[in-house]
Amino acid sequence: MSKSLNQVISTLERAGGFASAQEVYSNLRKQGKTTGLATVYRALQKAVSEKSVDVLRKEDGEALYRLCTTGHHHHLLCISCGKTIEIEGSAVEKWANTVAKNHGFRAVTHVVELSGLCAKC
Ligand SMILES: [Zn+2]
Ligand SMILES: [Zn+2]
Ligand SMILES: [Zn+2]
Repeated sequence: MSKSLNQVISTLERAGGFASAQEVYSNLRKQGKTTGLATVYRALQKAVSEKSVDVLRKEDGEALYRLCTTGHHHHLLCISCGKTIEIEGSAVEKWANTVAKNHGFRAVTHVVELSGLCAKC
């Protein structure tokens, strides 16, 4: 993990909930870090693509980031407000393992994301 990614992750950890890139950036500055805003954005994007950070978009389009719970999980995402819920999919895990085994595959991974409209939208 790169140094800036580490710093961004630990800042999100301390925030405990959702934080914008700007908030992460100003927190780092407060800690005396010299990380630039562009670096913060890049680190956040990397974390999102690695699924270690959840992202949701506010109505004004600003992205908010939150540290994902560790361990394998799936997401239920509202396509209207960006609300993200972490879900466990034991039926999916069982199915994936069975299918992989039946075909003699090893080290199989999967990505399952559910999206739709939440109760509020
Ligand atoms: Zn998550
Ligand atoms: Zn919604
Ligand atoms: Zn799974």
